[in-house]
Amino acid sequence: MAQWLADRLVGCYAEDRSGAKAAPVQGGREAGLSVLRGFSVVGYATRRNFVPGDLTTVSRLSPYLRHGMLGLAEVAEAVRAEVGRTADAVKFWAELGWRVFWRGLFARLGRSVYSDLEPAKVPLGSGTMPPEVERGETGLVCMDETVRELVATGYIHYHARMWFASYLVHHRKVSWREGERFFYRHLLDGDPASNALSWQWVASTFSSKPYFFNRENVEKYTAGRWCARCQARCPFDGSYSALETRLFGGKL
Ligand SMILES: Cc1cc2nc3c(=O)[nH]c(=O)nc-3n(C[C@H](O)[C@H](O)[C@H](O)COP(=O)(O)OP(=O)(O)OC[C@H]3O[C@@H](n4cnc5c(N)ncnc54)[C@H](O)[C@@H]3O)c2cc1C
Repeated sequence: MAQWLADRLVGCYAEDRSGAKAAPVQGGREAGLSVLRGFSVVGYATRRNFVPGDLTTVSRLSPYLRHGMLGLAEVAEAVRAEVGRTADAVKFWAELGWRVFWRGLFARLGRSVYSDLEPAKVPLGSGTMPPEVERGETGLVCMDETVRELVATGYIHYHARMWFASYLVHHRKVSWREGERFFYRHLLDGDPASNALSWQWVASTFSSKPYFFNRENVEKYTAGRWCARCQARCPFDGSYSALETRLFGGKL
């Protein structure tokens, strides 16, 4: 059905959708319930930050929550029924809380979420999306894999979203709004509140400092898999204080 629709929408949008494939995710409440039944929260607190599918414990429930196929309360309750009030359950509920928080803010702010909510804490660029980034051809395996997965499946892990957003905004000096649009166009859970406000959080227009990361962080949370294949000169190599100086000109 989804591919049938994708085929019929070819040519309806300004961007070239020829050859577009529907994401391999089944929609609807029954499919959402099946993903929920297959999810175990055990290990979530310690393994949530790991990215590759076999290392992490994330639920991939976001498209169903975003589109109202599942409710936050029933998802929270399913986790309680599985393990009770453990550290894993509490961490998972806290993440659901972020969704509630962003949604509540959006209800108050409306379209202002697309404008800087606070002055940036570091100089930001206003660049447009570099074509090689959008095509997943930077040569940086961590960034290219993220784009490939996003475009092919409509989903990427939270940590990969953070790394990509930080790379685009702080290394490539692209406007966070461009990144927000790129994600929104591809994410099956694309949500004005969670997306725009998370981009602002990374950029520092809705946080006390910019989010940035180093190679060690990527290596740790991917078990070194991406870095082992990467031939590029790594822009993330170095200590946090060295990167702070390189990116922002000194200590924040
Ligand atoms: C730059 C950026 C853009 C993002 N854009 C979106 C977006 O458009 N839509 C969206 O739903 N989430 C967005 N997120 C938040 C988060 O990355 C996703 O909700 C999460 O990765 C979804 O995967 P999951 O269902 O496997 O998460 P799990 O870890 O299994 O979490 C369970 C649920 O909790 C909620 N949740 C978890 N983390 C967050 C978070 N940080 N903020 C808000 N809710 C959270 C989601 O509803 C998620 O389905 C964004 C994060 C970043 C850094």
